[in-house]
Amino acid sequence: MSKINVKDLELKGKKVIIRCDFNVPLDDDLNITDDMRIQGALPTLKYVLAQEPAKMILMSHLGRPKGEVIEKMRLIPVANRLKELLGEDVLMLDDCIGDDVKASIANSSARVVVLENLRFHKEETKNDPAFAEQLASLADVYVNDAFGTAHRAHASTEGITKFLRSAAGFLLEKEISYLGKAVQNPEKPFVVILGGAKVSDKILLIENLLKKADAILIGGGMAYTFLKAQGKNVGNSLLEADKIDIAKDLLVKAKEAGVNIVLSSDFMVVDNFDNKDSLKLVTDIEDGWEGLDIGPATRAKFKEVLSTAKTVVWNGPVGVFEIDAYAQGTKEIAEYLATLKGVTTIVGGGDSAAAVSKFGVDDKMTHISTGGGASLEYLEGKVLPGIEALTDK
Ligand code: AMP
Repeated sequence: MSKINVKDLELKGKKVIIRCDFNVPLDDDLNITDDMRIQGALPTLKYVLAQEPAKMILMSHLGRPKGEVIEKMRLIPVANRLKELLGEDVLMLDDCIGDDVKASIANSSARVVVLENLRFHKEETKNDPAFAEQLASLADVYVNDAFGTAHRAHASTEGITKFLRSAAGFLLEKEISYLGKAVQNPEKPFVVILGGAKVSDKILLIENLLKKADAILIGGGMAYTFLKAQGKNVGNSLLEADKIDIAKDLLVKAKEAGVNIVLSSDFMVVDNFDNKDSLKLVTDIEDGWEGLDIGPATRAKFKEVLSTAKTVVWNGPVGVFEIDAYAQGTKEIAEYLATLKGVTTIVGGGDSAAAVSKFGVDDKMTHISTGGGASLEYLEGKVLPGIEALTDK
């Protein structure tokens, strides 16, 4: 990577401010239901503490408070969990900027400080320079370890880098190294599995992958727009009618590029989303029926292509995996990926990450991205502002 990382910084005796992604799910009693994102930050946090900094100041957003203080979006549960995981005192503040914040940090014996939710100030997402400068004024050096927000130019990801020497944390660096290799120099054959609800979200991704991939397997809701483009019946399945021409165009481009596009060819359909009892297997979707999962022949075909791969990127579930009756296709693909030996398997964030976790194979994947939107944009070949802004090596 062309950017400095946390090991390139002199940290002893310094105040270090770190942008983390502590946007964790909370239940109604404000218990953290999945602390993967906090666990993911630990390598950087432990490394920084071992360098004996004067202070380690952590900042993050949580939820979408949109510039207002929302009590249930405070970072208190995160600070409590960090206290347990780091085994040391953590000072939780009730704001992220200002004289009181500065004084509290200076007067506390705690080395670890958690600032309150950045998005309680609307200036954060607006990338307001004065707000960024106030964040920067709390520290001597800056580390970005929040891959999930690296695709956004916010005050804590981009603005702050104008004021401080800025390095990548280990988590951010790991994301870039796996995703970067996949899009720049994948070990071939390179097979991509695409699913999820919408074609419109994935057009740029497909265009970029056509330059790199050997095969693209398309399932999930987005497959139906491609099938329609080929003149097939899709019944009531998800369809983006205004994207049929783009789908046709992508199929032509794939052919020209020699990329093997495999569309789902058999389907688990229902006559009504809530009527699980009507579930049946078809190869032609009649009017009034809706495809919610790939069928066994498609699963077998996908596995056959995957068996040839050296690199696999998976973005988007191939069915409505949240509902067990429609989850079999996604489950089988996840379980098959887990059996592959000597293959780099990369799971894009968001729903595909939730799927491998639901089916208990997350530890069998080479890399699961922590950032849904960020990993998608990175795989589309876009420059991520939060990474671009870091100090060059
Ligand atoms: P995305 O955020 O675009 O990756 O979409 C993920 C969502 O797509 C999940 O919530 C799935 O339930 C949904 N999905 C996958 N396959 C289908 C399908 N055949 N019909 C409707 N929704 C689907």
